[in-house]
Amino acid sequence: MKLPIALLTAFLAAAGSSFAASARPPNIVFIFSDDHAYQAISAYGDFRNLLQTPNIDRIAKAGMRFDRCLVPNSICGPARATVLTGKYNHLNGFPNNSNSTFDGTQVTFPKLLQKAGYQTAMVGKWHLGSDPTGFDFWQVLPGQGVYYNPPMIRMGERVQVPGYVTDIIGDLSLEWLKKRDQSKPFLLMSQHKAPHREWSPAMRHLGADGDRKYAEPPTLFDNYEGRGLAERDQDMTIEKTMTDRDLKFTAPPQLTAEQRKQWDAYYEPRNAAFRAANLQGKDLVRWKYQRYMHDYLATIRSVDENVGRILDYLETEGIADNTIVVYAADQGFYLGEHGWFDKRWIFEESLRTPFVMRWPGVTKPGSVNKDLVSNLDFAETFLDAAGIPVPAEMQGRSLVGILKGQRPADWRKSFYYQYYEYPSPHHVRPHLGVVTDRYKLVRFYGTGEDYWELFDLERDPQELRSVYNDPEYATTVAQLTKELSRLRTELKAPADVPPRWFGNTEGAARKKAKK
Ligand code: CA
Repeated sequence: MKLPIALLTAFLAAAGSSFAASARPPNIVFIFSDDHAYQAISAYGDFRNLLQTPNIDRIAKAGMRFDRCLVPNSICGPARATVLTGKYNHLNGFPNNSNSTFDGTQVTFPKLLQKAGYQTAMVGKWHLGSDPTGFDFWQVLPGQGVYYNPPMIRMGERVQVPGYVTDIIGDLSLEWLKKRDQSKPFLLMSQHKAPHREWSPAMRHLGADGDRKYAEPPTLFDNYEGRGLAERDQDMTIEKTMTDRDLKFTAPPQLTAEQRKQWDAYYEPRNAAFRAANLQGKDLVRWKYQRYMHDYLATIRSVDENVGRILDYLETEGIADNTIVVYAADQGFYLGEHGWFDKRWIFEESLRTPFVMRWPGVTKPGSVNKDLVSNLDFAETFLDAAGIPVPAEMQGRSLVGILKGQRPADWRKSFYYQYYEYPSPHHVRPHLGVVTDRYKLVRFYGTGEDYWELFDLERDPQELRSVYNDPEYATTVAQLTKELSRLRTELKAPADVPPRWFGNTEGAARKKAKK
């Protein structure tokens, strides 16, 4: 059921007082991480068998694993704005990370849950510029946050918290759960910084992989043939873009003396061996890839441990049976595919975000779903699960039917994507497109070099060759072009993008002026 806001407000006023009398709506624990590639979750698997994530897998095994959860714009802040509002970035006003600020007066699902009588909390990475709204308690990292001994903002007050960021977010989440008002259902958003750049591990996980040599993705040395200027002319390769901080040649300044000792004990001998080897060309890229995998995957070990602590608590407390648990990331990420790290593209590794959800008594354990779902659907799903009507202005769709094993017959068969942020960071050209189960039609726009590409995922799952100009695909191109236009109208995508939506230059100039 979708309702206009005025009717919804009246509904919520009535609902708030009625929870005690009716069946208790489910608690919601939303565990969210930043830049966590599905390739690095064992429930999804990858031919490289990168690491075991037993606790994230517990959620998948007890519930549903979504294999095609797509994001409308594959970067951090915009994805978070979409999760909260159930809207595309052209409507929620957060198109890029560079100069967007979230308008906290908007309708969000935490606000609606709070109005309906839920107790709400937000802990960890927020990354939306303005202060969180709609939460009874919040403690967030300022901006991107740092891995060690991070400053945080607790209900508007700046505090310094000793320790490792992922453990701190786990601790704060559990503290809040323990102190919560047990008479109310709750929403906890527990949002990790990890494994975001510079993917810095907890000290206990340095060397946890025993200097393993990871298999390389087949496209580590992609030459970008078969595709256009955008894919060739980006700045996100392991070869050229990684910094000394990314590669751990420089230690983070926030380390304590004791932490620095542990850090140096692990990295220094390995860095010395690296310098002595004087690697060049492909050997150098291979070495960087191995260092990247060690660090990135090590940060996920702590995320998984902290997921386990929350799951254990729900069980010990006896509330697991009436608690929805989600694990998802803000978007996908490249782990060396196409020679890349980072995200942004409509291509699979960045378009698809990991998403597993358990809802005891509703979702059959061990379910796998391959429909086109999205983080755009999260807000609608949580509201629906709580028995709250979904505002008509939200653009996603509740997954409750799918979670019950009853997919609606008219479920979406195409998905709209639009990326803006350009030229910095990473110099990925703005693009938009339509995605189906088999195809992707992409238009690169806004830079004076407009052009189109088409990918056939059935014949070319690694997306290495655009077939846009292949006569064999003329009908497909025509159909998808029409579908793209239909989606843009339906979703109210503007015909022209205002220059400030690309972020960067204006934002960078403003940041400079402030200093
Ligand atoms: Ca992110």
